[in-house]
Amino acid sequence: MRSISILGATGSVGASTLDLIRRNRDSWRVMALTANCNVDELAALAREFAAEIAVVADETCLPALRDALSGTDIECAGGAQALCDAASLGADMTVAAIVGCAGLAPVMTAIEQGGTIALANKEALVSAGDVMTAAVSRTGAKLLPVDSEHNAIFQCLQGSRISDVRRITLTASGGPFRTWTQSQLEAATPSQAVAHPNWDMGAKISVDSATMMNKGLEFIEAHHLFPVGLDRIGIVVHPQSVIHSMVEYRDGSTLAQLGPSDMRVPIASCLAYPQRMYTPMEPLDLVAIGSLTFEAPDEVRFPATRLAREAAQMGGAAPAVLNAANEAAVAAFLSGKIAFTRIALTVERTLERDLPPAPASLDEVLAIDREARVRASELLELA
Ligand code: NDP
Repeated sequence: MRSISILGATGSVGASTLDLIRRNRDSWRVMALTANCNVDELAALAREFAAEIAVVADETCLPALRDALSGTDIECAGGAQALCDAASLGADMTVAAIVGCAGLAPVMTAIEQGGTIALANKEALVSAGDVMTAAVSRTGAKLLPVDSEHNAIFQCLQGSRISDVRRITLTASGGPFRTWTQSQLEAATPSQAVAHPNWDMGAKISVDSATMMNKGLEFIEAHHLFPVGLDRIGIVVHPQSVIHSMVEYRDGSTLAQLGPSDMRVPIASCLAYPQRMYTPMEPLDLVAIGSLTFEAPDEVRFPATRLAREAAQMGGAAPAVLNAANEAAVAAFLSGKIAFTRIALTVERTLERDLPPAPASLDEVLAIDREARVRASELLELA
């Protein structure tokens, strides 16, 4: 039996992870489950999985959590430090599934324990980049990529040398607005943006998929996880989301990983690694799917991949600024304050301002993140 902590247990990735654990109760002991403030769901999960500790990041929600778990011996805690304490319990596996840079400090804490981290929280790696990869090297922690594209690449790299890679190709569904005109994009609403054609995900990543910033963040994520050089990482739009990504080797072989658009597949690959486990998926029916198509990304209607590539090329603080500005703009869009097309524009304008020096520590990354959110918010109010 292995121990597991799930940071962001009440979210979409958290639910998919717990679904797999529910089917394999004898294999896992649940240590910490965390949420921001979704007390009812967190308490129900903590009871069901007999968690040792339940944590809300928002400390004002702690009294409600205590009420909801009264009569149990499940420990309750709240606040940013409690979140990091939960990540430091030494679980065999920590699933990092908090959305946004809010998950960075707990992920870094888990890395400091030197355990295995199944990383879904791409914003943490995009923001902290070299700071995080240096911590991974120093502590011997193992990062297993949950993101379906990176999990696909990770699988395609097994048994091969990264020095033999000619090119990594990230596939992108293109999101719900792939075929929309510029004027349709101007009028896109939050409910249209979160209605992804292939994947069922949290609101923020769904909007990122619609703007293609999700692929931009993944480009930077891939650059850190698989250091082949930025010019060897490409993006291709593949609307069926059957091929999750590809690795081409110098002998001309291209390896791809295919599967259903269900996060339980890459999560299972992390939970069982280096073995395999059962998931309740229908076998892949290529005849029913019929055809797999590919097209180049349109960086005029969807500038986010260009912005992410430029931020990656700039390096230093730029990816953290890109991510923070995007988080601020997506939140403004989701609350109805700005138009869809203002998201990428806000990111671009924030990146155009003087950038702070490259961060050398977690605290410096968090300071850059805070400052970039202020800059982005100023820009959002200006227009
Ligand atoms: P959700 O919005 O569904 O869930 C987010 C989780 O994080 C919830 O548990 C939420 O708690 C918690 N949370 C939110 N804000 C904070 C905060 N400030 N501090 C601490 N915890 C917080 O997100 P997803 O599951 O969709 O995504 C999670 C991460 O995984 C993201 O980084 C995303 O990019 C990545 N990812 C997601 C995929 C997917 O299919 N969903 C696919 C690949 C990657 P509460 O419920 O209380 O709000």
